[in-house]
Parts: sequence; C-alpha cells; structure tokens
Amino acid sequence: MKKAGQINILTFDIEEWYHFDIFSTEDTWLNYPSRVDLYLPRVLDKLDELNTKATFFCLGWIARTYPDVLKRIRQRGHEIACHSDKHFFVREMTPESFNDDLRMALDSIENVTGEKAVSFRAPAFTISEDATWAFEVLAQNGIESDCSIFPTTRSFGGFPSFGEAVPTLVKYKDYTLKEFPINTGEVLGKQFVFGGGGYFRLFPYRLIKRLMNKSDYNMTYLHMRDFDYEQPRFKHLSGMRYFKSYYGIKGAYPKFEKMLTDYKWINVEQAVQQINFEEVKQITLT
Ligand SMILES: [Zn+2]
Repeated sequence: MKKAGQINILTFDIEEWYHFDIFSTEDTWLNYPSRVDLYLPRVLDKLDELNTKATFFCLGWIARTYPDVLKRIRQRGHEIACHSDKHFFVREMTPESFNDDLRMALDSIENVTGEKAVSFRAPAFTISEDATWAFEVLAQNGIESDCSIFPTTRSFGGFPSFGEAVPTLVKYKDYTLKEFPINTGEVLGKQFVFGGGGYFRLFPYRLIKRLMNKSDYNMTYLHMRDFDYEQPRFKHLSGMRYFKSYYGIKGAYPKFEKMLTDYKWINVEQAVQQINFEEVKQITLT
C-alpha cells in the first residue's frame, strides 16, 4: 500500500557482521572474515530495479579498509553518510573523543568519495539524554541531519523524552540540526522499533505492514548482517541478546524485498528536500 503523503526513509548501516559485538576490538577485527560485501550487490541491484535511492551510514573504518564498497554505493547514486569511525557508543565517550572519532570517520569517507558526509547515525542509537552534547560536536563538524534518536528506552540508552518520532528540528546551544528519529509501533500496548535489527527480523511481514500503514513516517536501519544467515555466531552473547542478534535472518531478505516493493522509499537527502522544516516539530535540548 502506498499511502499518500507518507514518508518512508530507507537507510542501511554499513559495518561488518562483528561490529555490533561490544567485546570485539579493532586488533581482532581483521582476523575475522569479511562479509560486508556478500549481500550488498543484490541490495544495490534491487534498488536500481526499483529506481530507489537509500542512505548508507558507513563506518570510517570501512571506508579505509574496504574503500571499494563505498565507491560502488556512491556510483549507484546513493547517499554516503557517517556511522562514526569505530562503532564506539557516543554516550560512553567524551565530547573530545567523540570529536576525534567523528573527524577521522568524515575524513576517511571524504578521501574515498571526494564528498563530505552531512548525515550521521550513532552506533546503536547512543545519543541518549545524557549525551546531548553530541549535537554540538556534530554541527561543528558539518553534520546537518542526524538519525541517532531512539525515542523510547533501550539497553544502551534511548531518548524517551523526545516524544513523537517524526522529523524534528533540534536546537542545542546555537546549533540547529534536522533529526530523523527511528519510529516505533505499538504491539500489545508496548512500543517497538521494527524498521531494522531484531524486531524487523522477528515480526511477520503482515505485522510490519500494519505498523507501517499506521504511521505517516517510517525510518529503517538495516544491516547486511540482518540478511546473512551464514554469518559466524558469537557464542558469548547472553540468551536474550543472542536470540535478538540472530533470530529470523533466513527470512529477512525476502521480507526486505517485499517491503521495498510495497512502499515508496526515499533517502535522507531526498527527505531533507521534501520536508518543510519550518513546519515540523521543534525541540530545544540542554
Ligand atoms: Zn552500527
């Protein structure tokens, strides 16, 4: 169903299958096999077929290690955005260390694409209520649109006081940024994020469709590992986290293709042009 006036934003986080693991460190990463490029070609082909443009939030580390991945995404006309350098959680960093990490990422991306990234998503949505200083660092580094707000509670933070998850102008000190939060849907009286990760894989497609149809704004955050059912498994993850990390991968790619075909999608760049930001919700953070 293509609802009139509905805005659906398609985004991917470009990182390796192991980057979500909080125990793995940079010195071990290259000992793991690379899988970031296994599903990417078919995703790019599908997007071409549907004449759809997405935003790809890339790690600076990926830009340096696999520059060809970013080049190919950019050549197909998609937006290359920034997903930090090494996938550190923003709320656990200082403004200085976040600034250093962000600069490194933006420079690495620009070295590959020749263009500055102007959209950002924090690893694991970790710009939480105690890390609003991050907006100042983002603005000072030329970021114009942020997609890091998770407007409910989650294990690594969340931003429950953000309120309704719609495109918003965020003011922090003298800076103004466009915010595209992740949206939630209500299932049995509870709010769930279903546009990527565990619940995207867990929920049957008919439920995802029902939740999408109810909302005028839908934001996704898909990863190549969401589709990659042959990826190695981290056995040290706790029961619930293991389940959430690996459940439903086998059916995820066909579900994703259906979702792509059934709705009209745009990327962050296109959403910035379509939305009149003088009329959206505004929030002043301190
Ligand atoms: Zn990530």
